[in-house]
Amino acid sequence: MAEQFDVVVIGAGPAGYHAAIRAAQLGLKTACIDAALGKDGKPALGGTCLRVGCIPSKALLDSSRQFWNMGHLFDQHGISFEKPAMDVKKMVARKDGIVKQFTGGIAALFKANKVTPYYGHGVLHPGNVVKVRQHDGSEVELHGTNVVIAAGSDSIELPFAKFGEHIIDNVGALDLEQVPKRLGVIGAGVIGLELGSVWKRLGAEVTILEGLPNFLAAADAEVAKVAAREFKKQGLEIKLGCKVTGTEVKKAGSKSFEVSVAYTDDKGAAQEIVVDKLLVAVGRRAATRGLLAEGTGVQLNERGQVVVDEHCHTGVDGVWAVGDCVRGPMLAHKGFEEGIAVAELIAGLPGHVNFDTIPWVIYTEPEIAWVGKTEEQLKADGIPYKAGSFPFAAVGRAVAMAEPVGFVKVLAHAETDTILGMHLVGANVSELVHEGVLAMEFKGSADDLARICHAHPSLSEAVHDAAMAVHKRAIHKAN
Ligand SMILES: Cc1cc2nc3c(=O)[nH]c(=O)nc-3n(C[C@H](O)[C@H](O)[C@H](O)COP(=O)(O)OP(=O)(O)OC[C@H]3O[C@@H](n4cnc5c(N)ncnc54)[C@H](O)[C@@H]3O)c2cc1C
Repeated sequence: MAEQFDVVVIGAGPAGYHAAIRAAQLGLKTACIDAALGKDGKPALGGTCLRVGCIPSKALLDSSRQFWNMGHLFDQHGISFEKPAMDVKKMVARKDGIVKQFTGGIAALFKANKVTPYYGHGVLHPGNVVKVRQHDGSEVELHGTNVVIAAGSDSIELPFAKFGEHIIDNVGALDLEQVPKRLGVIGAGVIGLELGSVWKRLGAEVTILEGLPNFLAAADAEVAKVAAREFKKQGLEIKLGCKVTGTEVKKAGSKSFEVSVAYTDDKGAAQEIVVDKLLVAVGRRAATRGLLAEGTGVQLNERGQVVVDEHCHTGVDGVWAVGDCVRGPMLAHKGFEEGIAVAELIAGLPGHVNFDTIPWVIYTEPEIAWVGKTEEQLKADGIPYKAGSFPFAAVGRAVAMAEPVGFVKVLAHAETDTILGMHLVGANVSELVHEGVLAMEFKGSADDLARICHAHPSLSEAVHDAAMAVHKRAIHKAN
């Protein structure tokens, strides 16, 4: 006999737990299934994001940033000290504590909202039946009037670089017990840059091999240029246009190993680097293997993603899918919004996600953030625009913080002045980008933003002056 629910959610990552909690808030009887176990072997809700993604990576980025600043920033403030030391085990233990706090927090939120959790692997069968193989080996059958698939994603493994002790993905890179002398990274995307930065700041020699000829091709070209310059200054070696062709783990002493990485460089010449650890960060793939029994009618595309329409509906009555396992950016907050939208649609409310205002952030030093179109995209689409930019070097607060690197750029339609994009590189831009998100969501213009009072001194003054610069009336720079 199947247990009956209004909503059964498969996956308790950002997309799934948002769907489950919002559905329960709306009075729907809701279950949420998750198979993941934490480092302690106990069930851990929260998905990639809380266990091995957003939150633990930011914990290590923050620890390593404090360490780096001791050697590179504190002197400017007149602070001196004996040689700084990093206790890597303590840093990783702090990260583990944060993960435990937040994964436990989801369990508490489920309890408070009366979402019934099931711990195990769920498989969708025809007729909206989800069979759950629980960790104790028992099986339960759940029937959902609605089923929300939120199975998330896994790291892509390269056939010639199998994951193990020396060739690692994000999970391994978040748990190293000591700083590797040499860290190789395949992929200069968000994960490669963030985790490469962590270990670089702690003293590793980091070499990043990127297949594309352009650095950060998705970002605004001027932003990417500033970021590349700063990363170079920090000693991150980023080699573009490199195709990795093979790897080999070799013994390098009685107890140690090294990984040789063969690649062709941007001129097509065969090259090799030898590293102690190799992080493969070439992207993530929808985690849909073993999720669907025969005959559900749910379609997967060639990338293994669940096929959905703009409302996250699969086309099968009562079956929805959200988050990393469907099309669109693999971002936690995109999953949050889809989860909430689907719960609201199920409850008969008008849920929707605006893909045009999803912010992107890379938590490197400097941080990189954007929303909307880049200048390159506007040019390609033939949309007339005006650009205004403002450097942090002219912002009193940024200089007082000794963080003068970077700028804010506002792009507005040449005729209507509607904001079409905002691009930022510098300190704390992960927070500032939301001025652009808010303005775009409200269909605001550059003039609207320019006429909004911004606190002085604050980093947000760069946004204000950039908006004023669109009409060549920035106060704190020549226009
Ligand atoms: C190192 C790293 C850093 C990141 N940093 C950021 C960041 O700063 N900001 C950001 O927005 N995004 C970041 N991301 C991406 C972000 O983690 C994902 O976009 C987000 O977690 C996707 O949410 P989701 O709910 O779709 O899937 P997931 O978080 O992957 O969760 C899916 C859950 O479903 C469970 N599951 C899957 N199949 C089944 C099944 N059949 N039965 C039961 N359970 C199942 C899985 O165990 C998992 O717990 C980062 C990712 C990584 C790897």
